[in-house]
Amino acid sequence: MTRVYLGLGANLGDRETTLARALEALAARGVRVLRRSPVYETEPVGRANQPPFLNQVVEAETDLTPEELLEVAQAIERDHGRVRGERWGPRTLDLDILLFGDATVASARLHLPHPEVTRRRFVLQPLADLQPDLVLPGGASVAEALAALPAAPAVRRWSRPGVPAVEVRRPLGQQRPLLPGRRAGWLLAVEGPIGVGKTTLARRLAARLDADLLLEVVEQNPFLHAFYQDIRGKAFQTQLFFLLSRYRQQRGLAERLAAGRPVVADYMFAKDRLFAGLTLEAAELALYEHVYELVAPLVPAPDVVVYLRAPVAVLLRRIAARGRPFERDVTADYLERLAEAYDRFFGRRAGPPVVAVDTERLDPRADADLAAVVAGVEEARA
Ligand code: ATP
Ligand code: CA
Ligand code: CA
Repeated sequence: MTRVYLGLGANLGDRETTLARALEALAARGVRVLRRSPVYETEPVGRANQPPFLNQVVEAETDLTPEELLEVAQAIERDHGRVRGERWGPRTLDLDILLFGDATVASARLHLPHPEVTRRRFVLQPLADLQPDLVLPGGASVAEALAALPAAPAVRRWSRPGVPAVEVRRPLGQQRPLLPGRRAGWLLAVEGPIGVGKTTLARRLAARLDADLLLEVVEQNPFLHAFYQDIRGKAFQTQLFFLLSRYRQQRGLAERLAAGRPVVADYMFAKDRLFAGLTLEAAELALYEHVYELVAPLVPAPDVVVYLRAPVAVLLRRIAARGRPFERDVTADYLERLAEAYDRFFGRRAGPPVVAVDTERLDPRADADLAAVVAGVEEARA
């Protein structure tokens, strides 16, 4: 496996969709995308009089050789309707290999590292979001090379017009806390379907907000493995185990909050009910709800929820990438229903304010994007 960095650019057609499709195409051709930078909008270099580019850099791993990767990149460019015209001219998709491990290549078809990396802000800025300490040819780090560039031409963080990547949704009515009485601390829950990146974000938010961290325990559920193989048959015991273990974990929370501690959790208690609604049949659900209603009032409701979203194809890829044995059997169909249930749950007009984050366009692992999420949380609490 070689660690590679690829630069993407698009300035014709639906640029954002092209970038997203290109990443899916890479995954399908033996290039495992590990991390994506935010998307930047860039005035074209080389030739003026063409529309602005969207640019992005991704970190990936592959077993391909450099030449094979170039073939793959060019095939994906062709699939996106790129017609090779003038160099530096407009194109639906440009896919350059920036770095291929520490390989250096100088052939007729391929130059590695890409000779322009250190001179291009639209490459260095997104690369710095991913890996600022990476050393480039010449010995400077990405961050140093970026700092040495002239100010123009600029690059701007891009987000889809109309729909913000971070959206704060407020309930219509005043929130009624489940536990009466003022509490000095506050509870932030990170939620979203399996594989969306809750735990990673919860860790980063807890560090950033100087809060305690509360992580869901999943592996200890003895029914879970069998559950994914036979959801219908194993749902009730799986749900009941989760309900009671989550209750045990969260019942001490109220005290911690009362003591003034902020707490970040990578799940909300109510998710249990949400999953039960998907997996249980009517009679089981009725029985489950009796128990749920007994315990739910004993755990504090979150003050803010950060809701992470991603398309199902992306979730499946992330689940495969983390390779947890008990998640091996999660199906696209189940994820689809789960993602819909989450959308419905957070579309409702009740409960705590929700900070909805589109993780396709915003990567909370990048510092700039984490700051955007924190700003959303602060707005939601204000
Ligand atoms: P630039 O290379 O300056 O970014 P460009 O991307 O507009 O310019 P293209 O027309 O896309 O240029 O590619 C020209 C040729 O560059 C390709 O045919 C390819 O064989 C060659 N090439 C050399 N090194 C690389 C690399 N590291 N990644 C992608 N293509 C490369
Ligand atoms: Ca290029
Ligand atoms: Ca190119």
